[in-house]
Amino acid sequence: MLAALEALLAAARLEIPQAGDREAAEALRVRYLGRKGELQALLRGMGSVPAPERPAAGAAVNAARDEIEALIREAIARGERAALERELRGAPLDVTLPGRRLAPRGRRHPVSQAQDDIVEIFARMGYEVAEGPEVELDYYNFEALNMPAGHPARDMQDTFYVEAKGREGIAPGNPPLLRTHTSPVQVRSMLARQPPLRICSPGRVYRRDDDPTHSPMFHQVELLCVDRGISFAHLQGTLEAFIQAFFGKGFQTRFRPSYFPFVEPGAEVDITCTLCGGKGCRTCKGTGFLEVLGAGMVHPKVLAAVGYDPEELSGFAFGAGIDRLAMLRSGVDDLRLFFENDLRFLETA
Ligand SMILES: [Zn+2]
Repeated sequence: MLAALEALLAAARLEIPQAGDREAAEALRVRYLGRKGELQALLRGMGSVPAPERPAAGAAVNAARDEIEALIREAIARGERAALERELRGAPLDVTLPGRRLAPRGRRHPVSQAQDDIVEIFARMGYEVAEGPEVELDYYNFEALNMPAGHPARDMQDTFYVEAKGREGIAPGNPPLLRTHTSPVQVRSMLARQPPLRICSPGRVYRRDDDPTHSPMFHQVELLCVDRGISFAHLQGTLEAFIQAFFGKGFQTRFRPSYFPFVEPGAEVDITCTLCGGKGCRTCKGTGFLEVLGAGMVHPKVLAAVGYDPEELSGFAFGAGIDRLAMLRSGVDDLRLFFENDLRFLETA
């Protein structure tokens, strides 16, 4: 056995230093030291070595393995040095050559960007994001928001109803639909939690509308604040801060009384026209203002519907179209353009 080991070692000493590169050295490592390698084969013969001689034989095998490993390490290092030399002696690198063009870099879609900005502005004011399902039930979308069956305001929001044949658990009079606004998230949040409540709910909503300023799918963001002692002044201050953070300093808000079934009093909120800066132009019809959102104090009936005491608690809410805010900020004049997959929206300027 010792003689076989000597022969193996002699072969390795001769062969390994001749390995030309890293791959050849690695192949030799497998051949000599691998699980099916020659040294392993010798080890299997240890059984035939008489017991008193085994420790010496074992030590000899270990020494041989160490030596072969060292030879291979040297061969690898030599191979790498040689490769480097070849590279250095090869064709010189011309550092003045123009670089390869990287694939064009993209950016967030203006609507996603607007949504991110809005959420961030309200997060700084202490609002948390709340989300809800896009396929909603009539109860959350209308009923609990003070729009019972037959309420005329339901017609203002031409609704897509969802086929519910054969579905269990769908109560008559409470059909599933694609939510027409993000307000059902308010209802769900109020039912699930106790005040104080400060939530911001962005998301997709659906209506049967399709013209330059309406798309059947669009994005809304809704803000809800419920606590003791919340007044209209809180609503005004919050909106003012939001408009200035989103559009920039110098933008004014203007509140006009309006009707929404789920608030009382309700208001439409205008901001300084983004095109003319308030001087008056065709887009703002000479008024210097553009309507951007609806707002108001949460209707006592809505508070009562979720089990809050309207005598004790009050709140404000507002909703705005994210797409409309993005349009006004970016100067795009047809809402549908945002959803036609025009890659230019995603290119960096
Ligand atoms: Zn204008």
